[in-house]
Amino acid sequence: MAKFIFVTGGVTSSLGKGILAASLAKLLQSRGLNVTIQKFDPYINIDPGTMNPYEHGECYVTEDGAETDLDLGHYERFLGVYTSQANNVTTGKIYQEVINRERRGDYLGKTVQVIPHITDEVKRRMLLLGTYDQYDIILTEIGGTVGDIESLPFIEAIRQLKWKLPKQDYMVIHLTLVPYLSSAKELKTKPTQHSVKELQSYGVQPDIIVCRTEMPLGNERKRKIAEFCNVDYDSVIEALDAETIYDVPLYLKRERLDEIVLEKFGYVDQPESEMTEWNEFLHRYKFPKKEITIGLIGKYIELKDAYISIYESFIHAGAKNECKVNVERIQSEDINRNNLKEKLGHLDGIFVAPGFGQRGMDGKIFAIQYARENNVPFFGVCLGMQMAVIEFARNVLNLNNASSTEMQANTPHPVIDMMQEQKTIVNMGGTMRLGAFACDLKENSIAHRIYGETTIAERHRHRFEFNNKYLEDFEDHGMIASGFNPDSNLVEIMEIPSHKFFIGVQYHPELKSTILKPHPLFCAFVKACLGG
Ligand code: GLN
Repeated sequence: MAKFIFVTGGVTSSLGKGILAASLAKLLQSRGLNVTIQKFDPYINIDPGTMNPYEHGECYVTEDGAETDLDLGHYERFLGVYTSQANNVTTGKIYQEVINRERRGDYLGKTVQVIPHITDEVKRRMLLLGTYDQYDIILTEIGGTVGDIESLPFIEAIRQLKWKLPKQDYMVIHLTLVPYLSSAKELKTKPTQHSVKELQSYGVQPDIIVCRTEMPLGNERKRKIAEFCNVDYDSVIEALDAETIYDVPLYLKRERLDEIVLEKFGYVDQPESEMTEWNEFLHRYKFPKKEITIGLIGKYIELKDAYISIYESFIHAGAKNECKVNVERIQSEDINRNNLKEKLGHLDGIFVAPGFGQRGMDGKIFAIQYARENNVPFFGVCLGMQMAVIEFARNVLNLNNASSTEMQANTPHPVIDMMQEQKTIVNMGGTMRLGAFACDLKENSIAHRIYGETTIAERHRHRFEFNNKYLEDFEDHGMIASGFNPDSNLVEIMEIPSHKFFIGVQYHPELKSTILKPHPLFCAFVKACLGG
């Protein structure tokens, strides 16, 4: 039977519950336990797949094709363990299930209500991963802040689970903020006390309180929080602001968070943490020997969360190459024919981001042309690959007005076209080509050399694809397809072998890059930008 840790947040949003959950899970994993993390999100969308990145940041896609919250990306990057459909539950999914049952007549004439029907379904989902018999500990992060109307059914479910689960298998960790008031030159514990009171008013008593703070809490304040919030003194954990999110597991270890959790769960003789590789990564990351600047060209650059997995992949690949990677965010709409030197001239490499729709398309195409003609390393992901194909079609194959049917339905040369199976789809949610698909690599291609394997699996999220009718023309002119899906023959990778580094991939390699296993394509791109 798995043990459950529920992580709630108080005082304000953006305190980093996801990083706390991932860091604690990492520490427990480093002590020999099988751990996973799931996220419960209070919004009514079934998943974030239909939300604009400005609303919700990146939509993270799992191996099995779930469109999920970006926190799942942190979980995978920290733990190196895949998540799945079951690891992200939203209020929308809960209600959809309950309403479907009601329509089927499963409730046998009863009035269907938040309590017990919604909370029963929440509890069922919370325990689901435990039935897989795979995990020792399951952490559940509850989205939002305690006191929000939306998350009440989740909090109530956590309360009820206290009575359902054995005492030694249940724990609640509450993350709060202890703000520093500069005028009073003091840290203030009152918001934490109030937020715990709020949680208690729903019948939930935290076992551990983790306090985000800019300054050391000090024993006196810890004691005060312990006393007024009814927790043990050593269960008040200081979470000092860290230079990087990768420091957080080590900070929490210093506070003995893993030790306290294991004690409360009744583990004895669990091996000490093994964090050697993690520390080596941190060292390489913090003390780089070289430095490069890569331009990330996209239309959601104002919001860091929109391309979070990409930024993280550059951190992993940079550390691997002992190199600081400055990612310069460049709004694709700001690039035009006349400012290419000014916008791109100083860059060591050009990366074109994934995306949807027409906005910023021209800027991306100009940037790719610049990279191709000036032998600047180029890496394009998903839409970035599609734009590279369009650029090549227009400027090398002289196919005037070549385009993607996504942007220009009546283009005379649909070099990127909607996949056949997408043409009859009506619903937008969850209907793209999603999740991991196999890809065969062409012998001796650049992709093959980089991966060092002949068959790979990468994750997808798109409706459009390279149009194979044009393949011969592309290959005759020097852009070759080096990766194919073995079942559908869809082109997954395009490259220009004569160029210093020019690769576009239809899938999202950034979703599989982790701290201990940086992605080979990002590593090779960074290396090429270093001149290697
Ligand atoms: N809009 C493109 C498609 O649907 C690319 C999607 C993406 O970049 N994720 O095919």
